Amino acid sequence: MAGPGEPVYVTVSALDAGHLTLPERLFVTDADPDKRSTVPSLSFLIQHPSSPASRPQRSVTNLVFDLGVKRDITGYTPAQQEHIAQRQPVTTDPDCAASLRYGAGGSTDSGKVLLDPQRDIDVVILSHVHWDHVGTPSDFGSAAFAVGSGTLDLLARGAGPLYPAELFNADEIPASRTVEFPAVPRRAAGYTEPQHTPAAPDALARLPASARHWSWKPLADAFPSTLDFFGDGSLLIIDTPGHLYGHVNLLARVAEHRYVYLGGDCCHDPRILRGERGIAEYDDGRGGTRSVHVHTAEARRALDDIAKFVKARGGRDQVEVVVAHDGEWRERNRTRFWPGRL
Ligand SMILES: [Zn+2]
Repeated sequence: MAGPGEPVYVTVSALDAGHLTLPERLFVTDADPDKRSTVPSLSFLIQHPSSPASRPQRSVTNLVFDLGVKRDITGYTPAQQEHIAQRQPVTTDPDCAASLRYGAGGSTDSGKVLLDPQRDIDVVILSHVHWDHVGTPSDFGSAAFAVGSGTLDLLARGAGPLYPAELFNADEIPASRTVEFPAVPRRAAGYTEPQHTPAAPDALARLPASARHWSWKPLADAFPSTLDFFGDGSLLIIDTPGHLYGHVNLLARVAEHRYVYLGGDCCHDPRILRGERGIAEYDDGRGGTRSVHVHTAEARRALDDIAKFVKARGGRDQVEVVVAHDGEWRERNRTRFWPGRL
């Protein structure tokens, strides 16, 4: 436990949470038109040195960022299953819950459960509610869910012709245990997000006390809107609404001068992060073009902000950026999967 005024750190561990297959032409510029890549949908376990609100006897708060692919594909709506048919092969073993229980590499020899998702996970944060990130929320029966503003409205009603309601499950996450981050006061021109849902008091009571005072603040001339999750600077929520309404990233302080930036779906290919490729645009079937992002200019801005932040911190702090579908990162970093850490 850090003393007063001392910096607080979190640990971050990667979790396998299913795989899906992406056609390159929908994601990057100058794509091979026929190339398809099977990529992970990564989840992350974040551990903070504090007693969870609902379990004061414990000294660690366990948080999971993103839940990956549902273990049981029939849990998706028919329209979602139609979409998922175009992302095959899809694998769901191990899913997020199995990875938490047994760690990387599947079942531990002793069969010992490392973490029980029903009992031991206090908070689930979803980067956004696309099918390959919502996972199986019912596995996390005692967790509070924290999501971007407008997420519950998006799940219930969809958002316009490219994001119809049938591509979401209205009851995907438990509303009585869900808290939306505050709405961000100013949005880019042409960006109209779904309505904010105020938190139920029961849901708020499951979160750290800091949740009662959450507000968006700029950080380091790079990110216009960040929110201090625990109130101690160890874990920041970064507003990155370009990919989907309510999309958020995390910035975790893991050691002195060392940060991990979890980028969710701010891009789907590490070549975009490195500046080697751009965001693909393609026919939207309605006489216009679209990308995989709800607002392509905002998605580009988030990537620029991340690059600006990494550059500004370079030399003093090390910042590692990891996006949800980076298969190259997964291959290079197997020892950093739970119970290993980043
Ligand atoms: Zn997505």
